[in-house]
Amino acid sequence: MDTKTLLTPIEYLKGVGPGRADLLKTELGIHKFQDLLQFFPFRYIDKSRFYKISELQDSSAEVQILGKITNVHTVPMKRGKRLVAEFEDDTGAMELVWFRGHKWILENLKINAPYVIFGKLNYFNGSFSMPHPEIEELEKAKTKAQIKLQPVYPSTEKLSKRGISNRVISTLMLSLLEQSKTFQETLPNNVMSDLKLLSKTEAMQNVHFPQSAELLGKAQFRLKFEEFFYIQLQLLRKNAIHKIKIKGFTFKQVGDYFNSFYNSVLPFELTGAQKRVLKEIRKDLGSNAQMNRLLQGDVGSGKTIVALMTMLMAIDNGFQACLMAPTEILATQHYEGLSELCEPIGVEVELLTGSTKKKDRKILHERLRNGELHILIGTHALIEDTVQFKNLGLAVIDEQHRFGVAQRAKLWKKNSLPPHVLVMTATPIPRTLAMSLYGDLDVSVIDELPPGRKAIKTVHRYDSNRLKVFKFIKDEVDKGRQVYVVYPLIEESANFDYKDLMDGYASIEREFPKPTYQISIVHGKMKPEDKAYEMDRFVKGKTQIMVATTVIEVGVNVPNASLMIIESAERFGLSQLHQLRGRVGRGAEQSYCVLITGKKLSSDGKTRMETMTATNDGFEIAEVDLKLRGPGNLMGTQQSGVLDLKIADLVKDNQILKTARSYAHHVINADPNLQMEEHQMINLTYRVLFKDKTIWNYIS
Ligand code: ADP
Ligand code: MG
Repeated sequence: MDTKTLLTPIEYLKGVGPGRADLLKTELGIHKFQDLLQFFPFRYIDKSRFYKISELQDSSAEVQILGKITNVHTVPMKRGKRLVAEFEDDTGAMELVWFRGHKWILENLKINAPYVIFGKLNYFNGSFSMPHPEIEELEKAKTKAQIKLQPVYPSTEKLSKRGISNRVISTLMLSLLEQSKTFQETLPNNVMSDLKLLSKTEAMQNVHFPQSAELLGKAQFRLKFEEFFYIQLQLLRKNAIHKIKIKGFTFKQVGDYFNSFYNSVLPFELTGAQKRVLKEIRKDLGSNAQMNRLLQGDVGSGKTIVALMTMLMAIDNGFQACLMAPTEILATQHYEGLSELCEPIGVEVELLTGSTKKKDRKILHERLRNGELHILIGTHALIEDTVQFKNLGLAVIDEQHRFGVAQRAKLWKKNSLPPHVLVMTATPIPRTLAMSLYGDLDVSVIDELPPGRKAIKTVHRYDSNRLKVFKFIKDEVDKGRQVYVVYPLIEESANFDYKDLMDGYASIEREFPKPTYQISIVHGKMKPEDKAYEMDRFVKGKTQIMVATTVIEVGVNVPNASLMIIESAERFGLSQLHQLRGRVGRGAEQSYCVLITGKKLSSDGKTRMETMTATNDGFEIAEVDLKLRGPGNLMGTQQSGVLDLKIADLVKDNQILKTARSYAHHVINADPNLQMEEHQMINLTYRVLFKDKTIWNYIS
């Protein structure tokens, strides 16, 4: 079937017509022949096997049995009656049951004739029955072409109500496949022979109507590979073209600011991972392409210092830099930390947030435009149009998942050429997923914590043990440490959660009375200045206990805090728990995290608690999270079109993804524009595939 035919509107398929076409479009998104062909079964019914009645085990299994009907009778029910047939083979007996359609059955069933029945089992009172079986005389069944693995397609309630059953879809599919006959090959010869792939034609036929389980497996492999291959090809190509086309400012030198910071201010030795990442960044900045780099590093791995040193490279080359954070608290903390480090080398830093006063703002704008200001730190306030730089060369974005594409686009327009972009995230994204999501970004990973850190000890306790937990808090506080107590506040407006928080606060106040103890509270309903005030008291050690909602999740750094209590921990996702835990363990002292939950936990909930107590490794935790929740629910992935896969599965087909990516790499490295003779087939397929689809314009 050629490309043009594939694009034929679905109503032109025999057996469809306007009414069904409408349903197929609205319910299943099938508009064209091609869409129907790519509507894959989600499972298959195995009719290659006949069961004996004595072998039956699982209720609700679908089985096929050969036997005969010995007797039919009706059984009255509260309303109406049911028709029951005794069915037996040489190993036992069971019942077939009909709740409707009695007349047809009674008139057509033959007693003692051999039948093939198929359907779902019910188990009740020690025996099996099968409601509404598919039933066929053995003689007739023999004459039919043997389709052993029957496809089952996804359906919707509306479709089944309107009579578009699985059988209808199968019939349509069969007729389309018969009409298609052959499909143009879409993968190059060398890949086909390397991986011993089925041809496109064989794959399409076998994925819908498998001739055997083995061929089905091969068909699925081939189609999954193809799906990943073209997505990866697109992402890598975007990246390659980006590097060729999007010119960036070339930072020629590493100069005085960087060197004097490195030699006389930097308070510690950089870790090996930090050095490696800085080299990767340096290489990007020294080329003439615009940098688009994602910096992944677990909480506490020391991303901030890497960001600062990158900004110093910009300043050494006569450019300004900005650092954008998702919350005011975090921006303020960055500002305080960085201005202290910048002061000795004469780098000018300012803070801009929603609560910056108008007159301060005016001065700040002025200093930004005349270039006096080197580094601007802030919330999203700094991408507003009124904020104009003299010469912005680098934008660092902390905790990227909170920023949307449109906001990033605004950043690009802040200079004649787009500034270099460094995106930092502490949400470790499993490598599998990173490949798909960020195929068009370059990724650096800090996979090493600064030396001397003690692993945080994590325990799980039930509500009923709260008194012991309070005692533990007391012990830590008496040693001079500080403590976080975090409550879930899923939606800032949920009064229910808010009450939990306030009740918790009250009971902690009772347990830890003033003036011996001082307690801070921070939540989303407070005014920004009140939040900042409370936060500040905790940071300065004036309060020992911080009762808070997840506003403290991101980035806050209090090295003296050694204990993190998480209330209703079962209500948090794994990555959030890990983020929260990362608030402690930043100083030299042994730190602890206590997860408090109710007695009743879902099995996922249990897995989360077990994972948290078993490991501190963010990547490991992210892998578990991915398995528990699937890729669509992980932070930062929601807007990604690449997760909308037709046949492949990012988690289960990880290995195929890697293979596909490495082949795609090969092609793009050799030929980013797909112009070589041997890539013409890829080029053609690529253009058809992505003609009216843009897979997630991540940065553009
Ligand atoms: P994150 O990656 O979570 O943003 P930070 O940048 O806030 O981590 O760093 C956490 C803490 O570790 C900070 O107090 C920082 O000064 C410190 N730190 C960073 N790098 C090193 C290092 N190489 N050696 C010792 N301490 C470091
Ligand atoms: Mg940070």
